[in-house]
Amino acid sequence: MVVSLVDALGVLDLAQLGVVVNTTVAQPLHAAFRITINKAHDQRHRHSPVPIPLSQKTRAKRCEERAVTCLKNECSVNFIFLDRSKSKTWRARGLPSPFKRDGQTDACLVQLDMDSCPLRTSVIGSYPFPGWLLFASTHLNQFGSHDIAELQDDATAIAVGDQLAAGLDVITDGEQTRFDFNLSFYGHLQGIELEPDSPRRFGPPAHDQRGKHKITGQITAPHGLGCVAEFERLKRVAAVFAPSVPAAPTLKVSVPGPFTMAGRLLPNAQYADRYAITEALLPLIRRELELLIESGVEEICVDEPSMSCYAYKSDTARFVDIFNRTVEPAYGKTRLCTHLCFGNYKGHAVGYRQYAPLFPAFLDLHVDEMHVEMASREYAELEVIAAIAERMDAAVGIIDVKSYFIEPVDFLAERVRQCLDHAPADRLVFTPDCGLSQTARWAAKQKLANMVEAVRSVRSNL
Ligand SMILES: [Zn+2]
Repeated sequence: MVVSLVDALGVLDLAQLGVVVNTTVAQPLHAAFRITINKAHDQRHRHSPVPIPLSQKTRAKRCEERAVTCLKNECSVNFIFLDRSKSKTWRARGLPSPFKRDGQTDACLVQLDMDSCPLRTSVIGSYPFPGWLLFASTHLNQFGSHDIAELQDDATAIAVGDQLAAGLDVITDGEQTRFDFNLSFYGHLQGIELEPDSPRRFGPPAHDQRGKHKITGQITAPHGLGCVAEFERLKRVAAVFAPSVPAAPTLKVSVPGPFTMAGRLLPNAQYADRYAITEALLPLIRRELELLIESGVEEICVDEPSMSCYAYKSDTARFVDIFNRTVEPAYGKTRLCTHLCFGNYKGHAVGYRQYAPLFPAFLDLHVDEMHVEMASREYAELEVIAAIAERMDAAVGIIDVKSYFIEPVDFLAERVRQCLDHAPADRLVFTPDCGLSQTARWAAKQKLANMVEAVRSVRSNL
């Protein structure tokens, strides 16, 4: 059966590969599966296979060549079936993962992923905090470290539960544990000093109410940026829900890109401008991506909304270079996404809301999925998803996170069909415009539920 499935995909000629060492089957015909090709001695990779997304036939060919080469060098092959979906359509996903060490390619991983979700449903990282978490976050000095750990687990369980109830294919931890400076990315940096006060405390919300942090020395992150712990918590919490959901969702981790993260740090004599700060943060975020890959994360979103906000007045090729250098350790080793919105500071956009300035340069971003916000922009420039879908999956924001108009199911289904006029189903992902952290939870829940129902109704009629 394994051989016939793989042969049907035309990706790997198992007769040529010749070896199947391990086969673990969960639900053979209705499951995505992952092939891991490792050197026999490479226990680390054998037991921690990293899924490799593949979206192009050319990559499949390269993958086959790599796999054959790998096997000639006495590699082993593991098949791991992943119970992920009920869809009967299969699509090959995979990419050679040259785990280069000492200049040698010593392992090759391939993921053949069922096209479980033509029209996949996903979210951007954040989800509204429960009221009690916001209250607790202003009284943290009254909690002990174990109390705070419990708060984090409980809040994550709420975000996961709501997303699973909505029926999403991809979920996150809702960024529920980033409720305090010390638990945010900046709290993990050394060489900066927290801006303690809002420079403007009254009046309508705007970025100038959020102070910038001073840089006081060399910027380092000796203990990482906290994403691995977040991923481990998400896995632990999602596992509790596993028996009660029909299909395990993909777990996604969001990481800010260095240009976006640099926006809240003040330049100084050592770091002359935002680009200098970006270059200082870039290796720290690269390292975080490496750690996430080692921990087996299936999907990472590197958020760079500042790039989309500033593209109209910036060197877009320079942005692409920064982005690609950042994600280099993760590209081809997991499903890699980016989120390019125009800001959502307390429900307000902050950028020039046009995608035209980003393209065509941003088509060279090294990602498997590019997210654009469409709902709050009344689907202006929707045709941009056609160009995106020629290179990668296009994730389309169809939920307006800034509006309390709860998009009805029929309304959303029509928007999904509108997107299908521009891109094929297996290239489309549907999400809210941005993270839901600035949308009341009651509205976020209903919006997500309607989005999933709308996408499913269109999917069932494909
Ligand atoms: Zn956003």
